[in-house]
Amino acid sequence: MSRFDTILVIDWSAGKRAPAKPRKDAIWIGSARDGAEQEPVYCRDRHEAEAWLSDRFAVEKAAGRRVLAAFDFPFGYPSGFARRITGSDDPLTLWDWLAARITDTPEGQNNRFDVASEMNRQFSGQGPFWGKPVEDAWPDIPYRKSTIRFDTIPERREVDLAAGTSSSCFQLFFNPTVGSQSLTGLPVLSRLRRDMGAVVWPFEPWREAEIVLAEIWPGLIEPAVRAEQVDEIRDRVQVRLLARALARLDPADLALMLDDTPEAAREEAWILGTGHADLLNEKARSTITPPPLRNDCFALPAGVDWTPVDEALDLLRARLSPVTGSELVPLSAALGRVLAENVVARRSNPPQPNTAVDGYGFSGGASEGAKVMPLTLGRAAAGIPFDGQVPEGHALRVLTGAALPDGVDTVVLEEDVLCEGGQIAFHGPLKKGANTRRAGEDVEAGETVLTAGRVASPADLALISAVGVAEVTVRRPLRVAVLSTGDELVEPGEPAGPGQIFDANRIMLISMLSRLGFMPIDLGRVPDDRAALRDRLNTAAEQADAILTSGGASAGDEDHVSALLREAGAMQEWRIAVKPGRPLALGLWADKPVFGLPGNPVAAMVCTLVFARPALGLLAGMGWQEPQGFDLPAAFEKRKKPGRREYLRARVRNGRAEVFASEGSGRISGLSWAEGLVELEDGARHVRPGDLVRFIPYAAFGL
Ligand code: AMP
Ligand code: MG
Repeated sequence: MSRFDTILVIDWSAGKRAPAKPRKDAIWIGSARDGAEQEPVYCRDRHEAEAWLSDRFAVEKAAGRRVLAAFDFPFGYPSGFARRITGSDDPLTLWDWLAARITDTPEGQNNRFDVASEMNRQFSGQGPFWGKPVEDAWPDIPYRKSTIRFDTIPERREVDLAAGTSSSCFQLFFNPTVGSQSLTGLPVLSRLRRDMGAVVWPFEPWREAEIVLAEIWPGLIEPAVRAEQVDEIRDRVQVRLLARALARLDPADLALMLDDTPEAAREEAWILGTGHADLLNEKARSTITPPPLRNDCFALPAGVDWTPVDEALDLLRARLSPVTGSELVPLSAALGRVLAENVVARRSNPPQPNTAVDGYGFSGGASEGAKVMPLTLGRAAAGIPFDGQVPEGHALRVLTGAALPDGVDTVVLEEDVLCEGGQIAFHGPLKKGANTRRAGEDVEAGETVLTAGRVASPADLALISAVGVAEVTVRRPLRVAVLSTGDELVEPGEPAGPGQIFDANRIMLISMLSRLGFMPIDLGRVPDDRAALRDRLNTAAEQADAILTSGGASAGDEDHVSALLREAGAMQEWRIAVKPGRPLALGLWADKPVFGLPGNPVAAMVCTLVFARPALGLLAGMGWQEPQGFDLPAAFEKRKKPGRREYLRARVRNGRAEVFASEGSGRISGLSWAEGLVELEDGARHVRPGDLVRFIPYAAFGL
């Protein structure tokens, strides 16, 4: 049996009680159960951690789950040390020796320097422990290491050399205080071992044990921790990723690591994973390390003059892929986030058969005709099961949601029953199973309830909760930089001279991005100046995953967005057969996709909804999203020429689609008047009042 159901990783601390607000250098516990990562736990002090661990061990044991608990301090000392102190080579005897001496209050007051002094005194000449807060206390402990010869006992264990740790279990003060961590940690482990029946690896056989304690060292996964690049307390990242890595290991690989120890480990202990750091790092890394976009992702087929909308969309769909990594969040932070992994039910819903109504439960259904049954004393309610057997032919009072007790598989509705003198009477027939819910009738444990790419809705969160999942892996939000270009633009509220206009696009695009579930970054306005625009694009590429610009995207003299992108060699002018719309400049700037939108607000908004939104959705990991429109009778008449798809600003009144009086693409008032778009197909069309037209509400785009 080499599989572990639950992984715990504990980052220990020898320090005083930490503040309530989570911080580094306190105790952090990372965990994973059945392969699913859980939120790391913060413990302010060692007493809290010991209580938490012993509770958790008890819970896991009761549930029949095997636990591997890995701690980040040395479990043993260099060869020969244990015998010096206890007269025995058995490291566990030393654990008990320490447990009998170390005292530690919840505030963190402890006698570790006294106990270390006692151990140092067992050596002729200087003992191995060194380091203390003040030079003139504890005369048996040298302040500095330089005076110690380490001739009887080596300074480092074999595993310290093999794993490349930089610290020693004899160092009590100055970071890293590994020595103090062992002195305060081993007594706790000694108690957990005795009280909970835990087995200590590699001193004891681990294969049959329910709880295995092991030593680990976060330095092994330093590359993965660095790659995480998140604004998260480092210790928290370490325990989270170590737990993730151990949980994701193939049980056979984990068994190999546990079995792969040299002779010296029997006394000195061993760091789990030593010699297997590459594998651990691979498992510790975020599942999603998105590949970069291809340089030619915006290339258009040669010789095409005007690209139809559908072809343009097909190209975007084929070329773009997610660029965001992932993180684990509690459900309370998951609304609107993009699921990075499938969500698998950890428990069935409902978990056990229960009653769907208030009434009386019995066994086997009822045939046609009047029925009388004696009532069993007691009742079953939601969360308060009936503890006993309902005899054949008897009935029990049951309330909605109550688990069906033994001897009940059918429930008769309270309203259909006469209850008197300890008996119930009702009329059959009633099918066996009536008014009950089968276990798993909604969802079976192990079923995939939601797939990666889904944007979590309130109902999704209810579903995820119901199947026993508390945290989900989600994509990091897609950061989208927004900037406006044009010499004529001024900020609303600022004085505007003749020929100047207020920047309307930026606030519109930023607000749209927020609504669409992306993270907008406001990069302001840039004049029609190539050098300034180049600088701003560089900033944008540093801060964001994608860039939206408006204005300057055509091929004119002042169209610097397209000029710069062309200069960078990764630009394409997409002349899409769409109205409203001017050419879209699509390209890569420092590997970040740029969507160069037309300056006209109406065109900017329509192009964002029709082209940028699905493209950004792909980059964000949402998959390809098509807005669902529906057909409505037109309240207008319009003749449309062939060749371009048209989007009209529209709204619905009395079940009919109205369109805005003017189609001018500078008419922002029409955008605001509208509640959606009417989409007219590429070919010619004469729409008459009452004809069906396709209406796509703004909400269908996600606005
Ligand atoms: P352009 O694409 O730069 O040639 O601009 C087309 C039209 O859109 C011009 O009339 C611009 O003044 C106008 N325009 C460009 N940017 C904005 C903006 N941010 N807000 C409002 N109008 C704009
Ligand atoms: Mg311009």
